[in-house]
Amino acid sequence: MDLGISGKRALVCASSKGLGLGCAEALAAAGVDLVMNARGAEALEAAAESIRRVHGVAVTTVACDVTTEEGQAQVIEAARGVDILVTNAGGPPPGLWSDWDRGDFIRALDANMLTPIAFMKALLPGMIDKGWGRVVNITSQSVRAPIPALGLSNAARTGLTGYVAGTSRQVAPHGVTINNLLPGIHATDRANALDGPVAEQKGISLDAARAERAATIPARRYGTPAEFGAACAFLCSQHAGFIVGQNLLLDGGGTNLTM
Ligand code: NAP
Repeated sequence: MDLGISGKRALVCASSKGLGLGCAEALAAAGVDLVMNARGAEALEAAAESIRRVHGVAVTTVACDVTTEEGQAQVIEAARGVDILVTNAGGPPPGLWSDWDRGDFIRALDANMLTPIAFMKALLPGMIDKGWGRVVNITSQSVRAPIPALGLSNAARTGLTGYVAGTSRQVAPHGVTINNLLPGIHATDRANALDGPVAEQKGISLDAARAERAATIPARRYGTPAEFGAACAFLCSQHAGFIVGQNLLLDGGGTNLTM
């Protein structure tokens, strides 16, 4: 399917690896020029170079921490005028309710709620002026079905979800859509980071821990960054202009909900 977005320009935050990279690759395959970001310059440049070579699109890289004000200013400067924004950042660490103090919550809110909001505030006006724009926020299945050990993530991402529910309706009259993509378990470094402690705690191998977890998912496997990216590119396409303010679960059926 022709997504109808060739020649457009996208910012994909936190995109040297994992789900962000999956989104960057799928948008590049649709002919979209990119601004890519991550903290580590080496992996970021390698990912950008591979995308330039494979897809022939222009890629600008900005190596910085998107959760800081300075990082946001650098990325926004490079991304001014983009048609498409994909927000993303690393997720907060797991833990127990009694572990977390005010500082932990402020860091989680900064990374997973206030950072995407800052990018939307900076880049939505340019999309509104053009009468066309697409925003996809990478959130988590924990928004629909909170995961007890991810209390910091549950709290921050639910706040972002509430913000998007209202804001998406305010910008829709201008041809701009905002939607959230909610990953379930995907095979990325992040998933490995969560599987590691489980394997250790149970005294089993990482592969065994992964197999146990996959068995809890109706699809019996982890998702891939490529299929996640394809869903993102569709939400950014010309065909998705009537999809507004939605929270789309990509979880292999792991979250048992009727709506
Ligand atoms: P990942 O494989 O660890 O990749 C994270 C990417 O983001 C890397 O490119 C990383 O590069 C970059 N990054 C992290 N923090 C950043 C920051 N502060 N500023 C700029 N770039 C940053 O993670 P993932 O699995 O793709 O997860 C992406 C998001 O989806 C996370 O918020 C995660 O919590 C959420 N999620 C993932 C899953 C899953 O199963 N994978 C499930 C639910 C939710 P650098 O380290 O070099 O910065």
